[in-house]
Amino acid sequence: MSDCLFCRIVDGELPAKIVHQDEEIVAFHDVSPQAPTHILVIPKEHVPTLLDTDESRAELLGKLQLAAIEIARQEGLDEDGFRLVTNCLEGAGQSVFHIHLHLLGGRPLGWPPG
Ligand code: AMP
Repeated sequence: MSDCLFCRIVDGELPAKIVHQDEEIVAFHDVSPQAPTHILVIPKEHVPTLLDTDESRAELLGKLQLAAIEIARQEGLDEDGFRLVTNCLEGAGQSVFHIHLHLLGGRPLGWPPG
């Protein structure tokens, strides 16, 4: 989608600090990091929210998690831990409507989140 920020990153129209890319997934540093490591893991396919997924996307959702876990290892977060978060809809803080996992780590992460 041409008006989707993350689709434009996937298409190379917007710059991003990409840390991982494969056939289905791209991961890049968040432009406004909330932790020393803050990486977004997204599908290349445009899917607006978690509510737009169903059984047909089970494999893709699993691959997103596995990619995020591998990146966490690469970033050295497998010792102290990390968090994977997906915000769904504005009420939960979603601001970009192309699903993404936030991979956060590198500092103590409080619970519950705000
Ligand atoms: P959310 O609010 O959960 O939808 O997360 C969207 C995230 O995208 C926020 O953490 C933003 O800082 C981040 N973001 C917005 N624009 C960009 C961009 N051009 N490059 C990297 N991250 C971005």
